[in-house]
Amino acid sequence: MATDLQLELGKVSSVNPATGELLRQWPCAGPEEVGEAVERAREAQTAWAESGVRERIAVLREFQRRLHERKRDVAQTITREAGKPLAEALTTEVLVVLDAARFLIENAYRLLQDEPLPHGNPVAKLKRGVLVRQPYGVVGIISPWNYPFSIPATETLAALVAGNAVVLKPSEFTSLAALELRSLLHAAGVPQDVFQVIVGNGATGAALLHAPIDKLMFTGSVATGKRIAVTAAERLLPVVLELGGKDPMLVLEGADVDVASSAAVWGAFLNAGQTCLAVERCYVHRFLYEEFVRACVEKTKKLRVGGGMNPETDVGPMIHRRQVRVVEAHVEDAVARGAKLLTGGQRLPGLGPNFYAPAVLVGVTQKMRIMREETFGPVLSIAVFDDDDEAVRLANDCEFGLAASVWTRDSRRGDRLARRIHAGTVMVNDVLSCFGIREAPHGGAKSSGMGRTHGRFGLQEMVWLKYVDCDRTPGMKKVWWYGYGASFARQMEGFLDLQFARGWVQRLRGGWRSAGVVLRKRL
Ligand code: NAD
Repeated sequence: MATDLQLELGKVSSVNPATGELLRQWPCAGPEEVGEAVERAREAQTAWAESGVRERIAVLREFQRRLHERKRDVAQTITREAGKPLAEALTTEVLVVLDAARFLIENAYRLLQDEPLPHGNPVAKLKRGVLVRQPYGVVGIISPWNYPFSIPATETLAALVAGNAVVLKPSEFTSLAALELRSLLHAAGVPQDVFQVIVGNGATGAALLHAPIDKLMFTGSVATGKRIAVTAAERLLPVVLELGGKDPMLVLEGADVDVASSAAVWGAFLNAGQTCLAVERCYVHRFLYEEFVRACVEKTKKLRVGGGMNPETDVGPMIHRRQVRVVEAHVEDAVARGAKLLTGGQRLPGLGPNFYAPAVLVGVTQKMRIMREETFGPVLSIAVFDDDDEAVRLANDCEFGLAASVWTRDSRRGDRLARRIHAGTVMVNDVLSCFGIREAPHGGAKSSGMGRTHGRFGLQEMVWLKYVDCDRTPGMKKVWWYGYGASFARQMEGFLDLQFARGWVQRLRGGWRSAGVVLRKRL
């Protein structure tokens, strides 16, 4: 079984979560191996950075072509290893990566170009300013198991196109998906040492964090993210943290119940609820509440749970027993405190080791674990509210702030509420699809993390900004250099008046007083 295999010291295993079948096993990379990988990456990075953006875009184009050609094989690997239905592997993984490549192919050249920085102050006009975007060098990526291909791939593509080398430490549960990514990138023309995968567990991730990387992109739980932030702070290593979520869905009284209930069911159960952006808290206006709950229960009962390779399957298995136990504990806590299970909420051992029947839970309160901690499983918890203020208060009453959704036929009202919700993304009348919109930044507020991935803001995270300032008067000493004295102070006062005095008369006088500054004797 997955968990038992993972316990084999110093080894990680890929296990089919639907069947418990061992797919492959590897020794964990230790600190020495990780250090060597980073060293090789550093050596290879210079030539990669010098190859130029256009050259690197051409490699991305080739990667995109090959991934498109191998879409079915890649999706099947993901389904075998992570359990999600094949349709989801195609849409939320392969499609997302193809489109991430599309975004970079279309935009990276423009977004990575030097940018002239016009100066506003008359004195500074004698200088030419340019913003230069430089790759960090070696970017470390540590990724989770729930989107084992799309998360590391989208971050890797952005890092590579910007001229970085990448060392990726995938989740111990989904190394095969990362190795697929490696073979696609290498076949497309990324040099071996410019993109490396080091397979291993948390200790391998910690070794990468301690190795001399220049930036770390981490996606995973809040607990690990906090540990990483502490270590990174000691050496001021820049990090992006994409952490957990507890996303609220607010269904206002004017919403379309049929549409919103379908969204809630899909948003809560996609990838068996193991999605950082999953609908984990659903708040419904009292006018709609009963009808909405009825619709959710009806639709949940129709979901077909089973192995992801079966094209009829809607909901696959969870990743491993430990995750099933977390979900069970949250549901048990809620029921013990008075919540009511209307459907699902039990293991389905007849299907395989990690199946859990999608559950709809009502009568939940903010005090229950199911409404406070990340559940990360197929549970749709529904509560009631009476007005917009209460809905916003409930949505914001949470340590997480990854995303949220508002459901209403009045899009202006939806937009107004969206601005009051403390989250990295708020969707009006949709859930989750923001992750697939390449132009949109992805990232959280509060405990959901810091920094952004995706789109131009994600690309920006892969470069550091250098300001290059070129003076146009190389033969002239600057007027503000040494050679101070009473007359210089007067001239400067005049100069300040020339620029900032409110009245024209004072400005003109200031100009007259400061005129001599250019002729002033300087050291
Ligand atoms: P996790 O924190 O257990 O592990 C994530 C990665 O960190 C794995 O590769 C793991 O091996 C590594 N790791 C563990 N301990 C480490 C350490 N001490 N130092 C360095 N690396 C270490 O998370 P998980 O269970 O793999 O993923 C699920 C979590 O990820 C959920 O909380 C989910 O919400 C979150 N997530 C967030 C996003 C997002 O974009 N915000 C996306 C997907 C998943």
